[in-house]
Amino acid sequence: MAKYIFVTGGVVSSLGKGVTASAIGALIKAGNYSVNMMKIDPYLNVDAGTMRPYEHGEVFVCDDGTETDLDLGNYERFLQITTTRDSAITTGRVYQRVIDAERRGEYLGQTVQVIPHITNEIKKRIKLFDKHNSDICIIELGGTVGDIESVPYTEAIRQFAIEEGSENVMFIHLTLVPLVTGGELKTKPSQHSVKTLMSEGILPDMLVCRSTETIPDELKEKLALFCNVRKKAVISLPDAKNSIYEIPLKLQQEKVLEIIEERLKLPLKKANLSKWQEIVKNIEESTDIVDIAFVGKYLQLSDAYKSVLEAFVHAGTQQKHKINLINIDPELLENNDPEVLENLKKAHGIFVPGGFGTRGVDGKITTLNYGRINKIPTFGICLGLQCMVIEYARNVLKIKADSVEFNPSAEHLVIEMLTNLKNIKDFGGTMRLGAYDSEFVADSKIATIYGTTKVSERHRHRFEVNPMYTDDLEKAGLIISGRGPSGLVESVEIQDHPWYLGVQYHPEFLSSPLKAHPLFNSFVEASIKNKNKI
Ligand code: GLN
Repeated sequence: MAKYIFVTGGVVSSLGKGVTASAIGALIKAGNYSVNMMKIDPYLNVDAGTMRPYEHGEVFVCDDGTETDLDLGNYERFLQITTTRDSAITTGRVYQRVIDAERRGEYLGQTVQVIPHITNEIKKRIKLFDKHNSDICIIELGGTVGDIESVPYTEAIRQFAIEEGSENVMFIHLTLVPLVTGGELKTKPSQHSVKTLMSEGILPDMLVCRSTETIPDELKEKLALFCNVRKKAVISLPDAKNSIYEIPLKLQQEKVLEIIEERLKLPLKKANLSKWQEIVKNIEESTDIVDIAFVGKYLQLSDAYKSVLEAFVHAGTQQKHKINLINIDPELLENNDPEVLENLKKAHGIFVPGGFGTRGVDGKITTLNYGRINKIPTFGICLGLQCMVIEYARNVLKIKADSVEFNPSAEHLVIEMLTNLKNIKDFGGTMRLGAYDSEFVADSKIATIYGTTKVSERHRHRFEVNPMYTDDLEKAGLIISGRGPSGLVESVEIQDHPWYLGVQYHPEFLSSPLKAHPLFNSFVEASIKNKNKI
């Protein structure tokens, strides 16, 4: 029977709850337990697919096509698990299920209420999500305690703990200990947040204190006293120095596994963290810098590209280089901003990520043209591939090419809507989503990089390369090196260029700190070669 750890957050959002919960998972796994993770998001959206990336961060896609919160990406990267539709719940989904059941008459005339019907549905989802019978399930509750929308969840997990028995459930509360003017660390916000948690019937078993500094012993004592936890279970978690992959090691130093084992009456095991030590060492030793131009439209908020940024960390670590991503604002490039042009010229590689909508597209196409002509290693993902095809059609085929997404009345729509999506009106969950196979041409660059001609990668797109133009594009020299099940273009490349490659899928979702994704790895390697040549 699984044991459960609930992770709640206090004081403010964006404390790194997902990363901390994942790192706790990694530490437990290093103690030779099997671990699974689940995310609860209290918002009303049915899933994250319709949410703005610059507000909510990237939409992470599971193998099964679920569009979900970026924290599931952290779970996969830290634990090497494959998350599914059951690994995340939102208030939208819970209510949708309960209301559907009510319409089917399943409640036999009862008054349907938040307690017990919504709370029962939440408990059922938690109980049923782990199909692997893992030793430990970690459930992260999104948001901050005290939020109105998280109340049904705190109530449900309070009931859950009673039903499962105290030896089988523990609560970890992540809080902020801020440093104020005068250099003093303050405990009051944590005291208040624990008070709120306790007023909802939950006593934390462990307090993980996020801070810019290490929490000294006397402050731990104070926090323990006021927050009703043992001193030993007040954990200091200052900001990581170089990367988030240091966190399992920091938690180990604070004896987090031991406290969990004691609390959940598990045998005391020794965690083997050698692989995390190696990753951290490699990151520390990666001091040479390679500059990569990052041509995306969400510049300020990096969470919009979370998995891509992590994939670059993984590839950089494997290549023993620190990757300096230079933000290239495609809109400024459209206006020939001299500083942006200068930055682009400095770059040893060019990366165009996925995206939606017209804004910045012309700048992306200009950058791709620059990379192609000047033989700079260039990597395009999803929208990046589509822009590569438009650029090639415009400048080599010499046709007025565009995508139906940007300019439906263009003369040559080289990027068209996927045929089976043409009559769909709903936005939620209707794209081509999740894992599909791609087959590569045997001697293509992409097949050489992967070392195989068949891969499964995750997708999230509504448009594709128009099959009516593939012959002309190929005759003009664009190599269609990979195709999906029905002939759909999955990858393109060109000859006589050190590294120019676009993929319709999202390789970033499968990159891991233990093994960088081959495409990111090879692209970074090519950029380093380019740097050393210059
Ligand atoms: N907007 C493009 C499409 O829907 C690309 C999507 C993406 O980059 N994820 O096909």
